[in-house]
Parts: sequence; C-alpha cells; structure tokens
Amino acid sequence: MNCSRREFIDGLIKLGIGVPIVSGLSPALNALLEAGLPAAALAEAGQSIRKRNFPIDSFPEAQYYKKLPDGRVQCNLCPNLHIYKESEVSFCRTRQVYKGKLITLAYNNPCTINLDPIEKGPFNHIRPGTNVLALASGGCNLRCLYCQNWDISQSQPNKLNTFDLPKEESKKALEEKECKAIMWTYTEPTVYPEYIKEIAGYTTAQGVRNLICTAGFVNPEPLKDLCKTAEGFAVALKAFDEDAYIKIGQQSLKPVLKSLETIKAAGKWLEVVNLIVPTYNDDMGTIKEMCGWLKKNLGSETPLHFGRFVPEYKLKTLPPTPLKTIEQARQTALDEGLKFVYTFNVAPHEGNNTYCPKCGKPIIKRLAFKILENNIKNGTCGYCGEKIAGIWA
Ligand code: SF4
Repeated sequence: MNCSRREFIDGLIKLGIGVPIVSGLSPALNALLEAGLPAAALAEAGQSIRKRNFPIDSFPEAQYYKKLPDGRVQCNLCPNLHIYKESEVSFCRTRQVYKGKLITLAYNNPCTINLDPIEKGPFNHIRPGTNVLALASGGCNLRCLYCQNWDISQSQPNKLNTFDLPKEESKKALEEKECKAIMWTYTEPTVYPEYIKEIAGYTTAQGVRNLICTAGFVNPEPLKDLCKTAEGFAVALKAFDEDAYIKIGQQSLKPVLKSLETIKAAGKWLEVVNLIVPTYNDDMGTIKEMCGWLKKNLGSETPLHFGRFVPEYKLKTLPPTPLKTIEQARQTALDEGLKFVYTFNVAPHEGNNTYCPKCGKPIIKRLAFKILENNIKNGTCGYCGEKIAGIWA
C-alpha cells in the first residue's frame, strides 16, 4: 500500500514509535525530547517547504574576503585566513572561488529545518519551554572527532538534499510552526554569515529572535556583525588546553576565547558548553582553570553546561564520559563561583535544573529538555525574589 510521508509519520506516532527528526543526541535523550514535544508539531516541521537544487551561479558573492594581486582570493571570515585559486572549494566547504570572486554556497538552502526545544541549544535562560525553528546549512571549519552531525557538517551545502528557504519562506515557516525564534545549529553557523544575516535581518524586524549555536572559531569583525542581528549565543568551548583543542577539533583555543569576550562585550546573551571527552579534556585541574577564566572574563552568571560524550564518528571506541566526571566538573565550577552550572546529555539529573543562587531552591525543574516546573516570576526567583540572569519575557 502506498502512503505519503506525512501519513507514514502519523502512523509512526500512532504506533508510539515517534519521529526520528532530531539529530545530534543520544537515543535515550531523543526519546525524552520527543516525549516533551507535541508529536504533531514535530512531524510537521519543515514539511511545507519545497526542496530544490541550486545551480552554482545562483549563489551570491561572499563577504569577508579580499582579492590578491595574483588572482587568488583570501578569506578572512575565520582565523585560518585561507587562500584559494579559481574553482577551489573552501576547507569549511561553504565557499568557492567562481569567476574570480569568492561566493557562498550556503544561501537560502538549509539542509535541516527542525522544530526543537530551545533547551537543546542549550539555552536554559531564554524563554524556557518554548520551541524554535532549528536551521542548518552544510559546512564547518572544525573537524571534531566526535561530531554527531558529521554527515551535514562535513558536506558541501549545495551537494546536500536542501530546502528552498529564502527570507520570505522563513516567515511562513515560523508562522506555520508558531515559533518566535530561529536557532542556527547542528553545523557551524559562522561559516555562512551572509545567509544568517539575511534571514535574521528580515525576521528580527518582526519580533523574531535569532540564536546561534557555534564553536566560536571566527574572526572578531564578522562576529560583531552577527551580534547585530542575533540575540543569544551558545558557544561550544571544546577544551581549555591548546593541545586538546587541536586534537579534538583541529583548531585553536585562543580565537574562541576572544569570541566569547566579543559576544559578552556586545551585550548578547551567552551560554557556554563544554563536552567532556574521556582522556582528551577531562583533567579536573584544567577544568578548574577554565571555570576561573569564565568567571573572571564573562561573569559568574554565565551559564555553563557540562556535556556527556557518547561514542560517535571517529571516537566510537571511547567509552561515554563517566557520570562521576560530569558531577565532579559541575561541583568544581560551582566551587569556583559560577552560579548556573548544568549537566547536558545526562538525564534525569539534578544538574538539569536551574537553582536560585541566593536561596538555593530549584526554580526551573527539567527532565532533559522538558520543563517540569517553572517558578521564575518576572525574571526573579519565585521563592525569595532574587533577580535571575536571562531573557524570560
Ligand atoms: S571561513 Fe572557511 S574558507 Fe574562510 S578561512 Fe575559515 S575555513 Fe577557510
């Protein structure tokens, strides 16, 4: 018997099988996530947007590059400052030299349109319990050994099966899904800033929030431009040690620290994620040093999420991070004076909750990404009245 994709998905829901649209999480967390979202809303995400293949001459000229006297071009979007000759595709796969110009291959063509809980960013301090339109185009300028989305992050955007999502369609998608925010996620958004700025500029004017989940390996000027249209950033700080950074993601730590400071200086909401990978970045002394740096340079109210590694991609033989390590790291961060420290990819766990830094009561209780109870009143603790950092309205 033939049936449409929609009918197939509805059938899965009726059978209690769920909708496998959420990538980048352990199966157990996917199950929890699905339990926390309206199944019909999940099933419908991205269904009405057309798919399309984009010819090379439909892509616009990239920003953040210069032409060199010998005819080559130099990209200055990220600290790699790569130089390319005619027809070469960039290391991050989102840019190509075409007819003497650098063009962006990630424009109007996301490969993923999902409906996600905002907590998946992770953003625990922005409008808890709301859903966001999660968008991603192919491409990334890191090479993380544990990438959970390697099939899209390590692909050229115009070689993927893509949606046709110009800015006008983004408005339609937001209205259909009743979302008030877009989250750029799954791959590395900072390697397609032209598209983000186009969509964000258009949707922000209509009261839509744009949030960016990034590894932060980007130069300050393009990042400052992104800050003009984005309201919040979740930055994955891969390690606090140069050798570990290179080993995990083949990039460097210092530019990421600079990005964290740039976002903070721009007055944007910022949450930091540190995925702890056994034997790579689990030294508690270095974690303590990292927490001290975060407190000193970003403030004690910057949320920090310790993520649990699950074997993936090129690290399939490593065991998952022991729960004890995650708990030790969380305690270390609290001892260092950070006020909001979370466990990510571990549930159920007390580290899923938000606690009032003054009275210590749990003001938001969570099960993974699902909000069980929210006792924040007008941005303050519902028990003692302490102001809680975040965007709550
Ligand atoms: S953004 Fe891409 S092309 Fe530009 S320097 Fe970085 S990796 Fe190279």
